[in-house]
Amino acid sequence: MALIVQKYGGSSVRTTDHIKRVAGRIKDTVTEGNSVVVVVSAMGDTTDELIEMAGQITNKPSAREMDMLVTTGEQVSVALLSMALQEIGIDSISLTGGQAGIRTEAVHGKARILDIQPDRIHRELKDGKVVVVAGFQGVTDDGEIATLGRGGSDTTAVALAAAIQADVCEIYTDVEGVYTTDPRVVPHARKINEISYDEMLELANLGAVVLHPRAVECAKQYNIPLRVRSSFTKNPGTLVKEEAEMEQGMIVRGIAHDLNVAKVALVGVPHRKNSLQLVFKKLAAENINVDIIVQSIVHNEVSDISFTVSVDDLDKACDVLNGVKEELNASEIVCEEGLAKVSIVGAGMISNPGVAAQMFDALTEAGIGIKMVSTSEIKVSCVIDASQVHDAVKALHTSFGLDALDTVTVAK
Ligand code: ADP
Ligand code: ASP
Ligand code: MG
Repeated sequence: MALIVQKYGGSSVRTTDHIKRVAGRIKDTVTEGNSVVVVVSAMGDTTDELIEMAGQITNKPSAREMDMLVTTGEQVSVALLSMALQEIGIDSISLTGGQAGIRTEAVHGKARILDIQPDRIHRELKDGKVVVVAGFQGVTDDGEIATLGRGGSDTTAVALAAAIQADVCEIYTDVEGVYTTDPRVVPHARKINEISYDEMLELANLGAVVLHPRAVECAKQYNIPLRVRSSFTKNPGTLVKEEAEMEQGMIVRGIAHDLNVAKVALVGVPHRKNSLQLVFKKLAAENINVDIIVQSIVHNEVSDISFTVSVDDLDKACDVLNGVKEELNASEIVCEEGLAKVSIVGAGMISNPGVAAQMFDALTEAGIGIKMVSTSEIKVSCVIDASQVHDAVKALHTSFGLDALDTVTVAK
């Protein structure tokens, strides 16, 4: 008998029929003799619809009220799933994040889980119940409801698996596992059987929405094997773990893309030693996360400082730069939207030179201009025009030998 955490994403509980089918799967797991904790997301596009409704009322909703609003989505699905389980003879109980003992930071919209007190869950499991927990939410020390950021139900599942020392954490979604790239962009993407935490963390951080980055971080920290699989089939999916086998001759494990990229440039800054220090301290003070940074110095006299931020932070970043423009005597500030970041990821890069060169080659051959580049041990990222991002992903997928012979079907 095993203790299993299963997480079902929005597409897996899109309609009441989907919920009934998920209940049937959970029943099978229970009948095999396992104890099960289930984490569920809001049904289908509920979260987007709730956000849209808020937008019909105000452009600046308070972050607290947004969290009150969007967490209702998960509350609907846990209650319905628990009813569906009871209807087929499985004893179960639904819990909100707070009831499940999930304590978070006092930050609305992107709180981190601080700890989980799993007493209630253990009690319910001991009573022979399936415990159905609302994903994506927790409670602050002040008793306020906070959410974990979009896609955060994955993190709820992994954090719960760590807290109750589950044997496995299974993430059920609408594709057969983690692919070499988003199968919606490249139908010839290939399913990956095994991937390391580090590679998966890069892919998730670089835009592969199949797993929430913090879920991977938490799985790595507590060494919890994660299985990503389809809720529509019985196939084994992808195992995310400490070390993973690489197919012979493969250097790149996967390709990710991210459209949430904006570029800011401070142009013509007369060179002085502390300009970078000044700019980035002010950005940090405003809580702006900066990604790729490029400084180019011409003849040791003037420099251009450019960097990328998320689209949401663009206005704030431009305000900060306008505030320092005079002090630095810069000639111009340029803010650019309509960009994307495309990245290749693979542990094999460490020992194989020429990977970046091959990436630039493939993009150039496809007629795609590269605006910025950043590298780490196991990834190379390029900032390009958003309009070309799908072409870029396809070109890189082919260039690094990742195309499969058959095409992927995404479940409905
Ligand atoms: P869920 O509602 O189950 O959480 P998500 O939409 O958050 O589902 O994540 C699943 C989706 O992630 C897939 O439908 C796919 O389009 C997208 N995706 C992006 N990159 C990848 C990848 N490398 N492998 C698999 N799916 C990916
Ligand atoms: N329902 C939330 C969202 O759409 C959380 C999740 O699905 O993981 O972002
Ligand atoms: Mg998701």
